[in-house]
Amino acid sequence: MSDAPTYGFDTLQIHAGAKPDPATGARQTPIYQTTAYVFRDADHAAALFNLQEVGYIYSRLTNPTVAVLQERIATLEGGAGAVCCSSGHAAQIMALFPLMGPGRNVVVSTRLYGGTVTQMSQTIKRFGWSAKFVDFDDLDAVKSAIDEDTRAVFCESIANPGGYITDIRAIADITDAAGLPLIVDNTSATPYLCNPISLGATLVVHSTTKFLTGNGTVTGGCVVDSGKFDWMASDKFPSLSQPEPAYHGLVFAEVLGPMAFTFHSIAIGLRDLGMTMNPQAAHYTLMGIETLSLRMERHVENAVKLAKWLEADDRVDFVTYAGLESSPYYARIEKVCPKGAGALFTFAVKGGYEACVKLVDSLEIFSHVANLGDTRSLVIHSASTTHRQLTPEQQEAAGAAPNVVRLSIGTENFEDLIADLDQALTKATA
Ligand SMILES: *Cc1c(COP(=O)(O)O)cnc(C)c1O
Repeated sequence: MSDAPTYGFDTLQIHAGAKPDPATGARQTPIYQTTAYVFRDADHAAALFNLQEVGYIYSRLTNPTVAVLQERIATLEGGAGAVCCSSGHAAQIMALFPLMGPGRNVVVSTRLYGGTVTQMSQTIKRFGWSAKFVDFDDLDAVKSAIDEDTRAVFCESIANPGGYITDIRAIADITDAAGLPLIVDNTSATPYLCNPISLGATLVVHSTTKFLTGNGTVTGGCVVDSGKFDWMASDKFPSLSQPEPAYHGLVFAEVLGPMAFTFHSIAIGLRDLGMTMNPQAAHYTLMGIETLSLRMERHVENAVKLAKWLEADDRVDFVTYAGLESSPYYARIEKVCPKGAGALFTFAVKGGYEACVKLVDSLEIFSHVANLGDTRSLVIHSASTTHRQLTPEQQEAAGAAPNVVRLSIGTENFEDLIADLDQALTKATA
């Protein structure tokens, strides 16, 4: 039933990609804990290696448990195919890998997850790639940052942690005109709140570590391809549009059409970079994803209540949550994420850095961790932790100034969360 467009989100999050196990009838997707698969005969093996037949060879490339998750996420995002990876950061590299080459650049938003800022500004340079950071509210700046060597544009749908929503449609108009793929990190929104592909995104990346799994058990990532980008329209993407020397001259876009990017990512990306998701991780994420919409509804409901309560409290300077009418991004919710602005926001505590640290140490239900998107409510002082390696300007741009604390609101009773914040604010601002 995975391709059935008539089913609703709540049905697809449980059923897409899965069917009773053909060997045993097991109703739940088994964990195929195996590294290799027996070929029927030599011809079968040859057909698999030539990509003439879809099947399983070796679990660095594909695994039946992981394949169910790939199809599940691709379906929920409205994509043609997906590749799961060992982490969200692996997914970001896997998304760029078929597009980039030495001397090429990616135009990225200044409002990104802290680890992504470091990956893009520092680590990708080792591959000869570079990133140009631009304010994505300044559409002219995005346009003029694109040059001859640009091969992709990258942003987050709901940016973590600053309460920022990207006008994906407006950015997609720019990338369409430039003939470039738009990559959207949809981790904070999830496909329940936001569908980047319907707004013009080419690729969607996820840290499945967060809301998709939802319970803080495993790390993972995913790249979803819309299947809509015309790789043959220019000579900018030779890995997909021209004979690929790393796969005996196969022209992926010609032979595989809308599945070109996905097959390239498996046949070359996973084969040679090896950033593979393991079947245990896929199992945990499949368990989590079954309740995605139910959790996201409660996450958003709680986030709105807590953000309003904090905004009205005079121990708090400001709250940056796009779900508040005071947010400059409130009007974008309807366009970009009509079911809500997510469950992450920051607030500024009167008393600055010291008060923030005291607040974090005084909270009892909220856990002080470098994570987000858990059923548990989480808190972090970004400036002293996740965003520590950024310059003060980068911290400010990412919405992680020293006086600001980030919350990831869980699905607990909101009264308990408010009581916890209340007692911790009293201690922090005493
Ligand atoms: C956590 C996160 C990542 C990185 O994912 P990992 O699974 O930790 O590698 C990327 N983008 C966003 C928005 C994230 O929240």
